[in-house]
Amino acid sequence: MSKYPELIIDLKKLKSNIRQVKNKCMEEGVEIVGIIKGSSGFFEVAKAFDEEGVSYIGSSRVEQLEPLVGKVKAPLMMIRIPMLSEVSDVVRVTDISLNSEIEVLKALNEEAKKQDKVHKVILMKDLGDLREGFWSEDDIIEASLLVENDLSNLYLSGIGTNLGCYGAITPTEEKLNELVSVAEKIEDKIGRKLDIISGGATTSLPRIFEKNMPERINNLRVGEGILLAKDLKDLWGYDMSYMYQDVFKLRCEVIEVKNKPTHPVGEIFVDAFGNKPTYEDRGIRRRALLAIGKVDYAFTDDLILNEDGAFIVGSSSDHTIVDVEDAKRDIKVGDVLEFDLCYSTMVYITNSPNIKKVFID
Ligand SMILES: *Cc1c(COP(=O)(O)O)cnc(C)c1O
Repeated sequence: MSKYPELIIDLKKLKSNIRQVKNKCMEEGVEIVGIIKGSSGFFEVAKAFDEEGVSYIGSSRVEQLEPLVGKVKAPLMMIRIPMLSEVSDVVRVTDISLNSEIEVLKALNEEAKKQDKVHKVILMKDLGDLREGFWSEDDIIEASLLVENDLSNLYLSGIGTNLGCYGAITPTEEKLNELVSVAEKIEDKIGRKLDIISGGATTSLPRIFEKNMPERINNLRVGEGILLAKDLKDLWGYDMSYMYQDVFKLRCEVIEVKNKPTHPVGEIFVDAFGNKPTYEDRGIRRRALLAIGKVDYAFTDDLILNEDGAFIVGSSSDHTIVDVEDAKRDIKVGDVLEFDLCYSTMVYITNSPNIKKVFID
């Protein structure tokens, strides 16, 4: 088996990132769910979260949580609304799940009864991002009462919301106060305090940094902000210099280096993916061909090449073309070029069976 392409995952840097975010959140009375789906659920990543003492480990896929049963201390959280067809796995594998459908809650309750368990649930409130969650306040209150009073094998841990995913809605102090107000209405009706008010994901971390997280929000589900720590810097302008942005490094081998025209020669029709691209003619330039392609990372534009003077020209399924005309280094066949990842390329690369994964610590 070849050595490349390889993905280096630095668990020391990852653990440092986990500690930084966890400590900042702890100061504000917020516990962390370590979300592993961004790295396709790597066991080692889950272990790192566990060793740093996060309160829960969560994923959108039961399949990523299953290998962790009995291997980690943290309770496991299913963060995508369960499919009706997977409730038995959700109850068997996870301790707690996010929910938004009465029918699913009833099925989870029946299944928990069968497995002689009490399954915990967080009910999701949609505050405008328009992905999952109860839309009307009355509906989430009614569902809370149902869980609390009638579904004896479920325990209502609390409520939560998701923002900044589909609708790109910012988790402002105001938005999160809306969630707290719904929680307090539920508490009035059920006559007790909820354990968890889960105020979102990485995009809610600015409320921690700015110390304006509403008092009662006590849980965040964080993936990207720990694994990559890029978005809060690149998109929101926060100083993230105390975090490592290079937990993941992709290394690819050069298989051809030649001087070629920059404009294709002949009649241009469509490329490998049926697109009709345009090409800038920059004359003859030196380019390196890499043994990695779109099947591994899907989005060429999202790759971040770490090679002075070189830049990515394009790609097809299994090849990536890099312009090395002005590269500082004399790049030859057999050399290795390195890339940083962003969320989209991380998701694909970690999930690609072609990539060798190397964990260092
Ligand atoms: C993906 C996801 C998260 C984590 O998102 P990040 O941006 O990686 O922090 C949290 N909650 C839910 C419901 C999710 O689907």
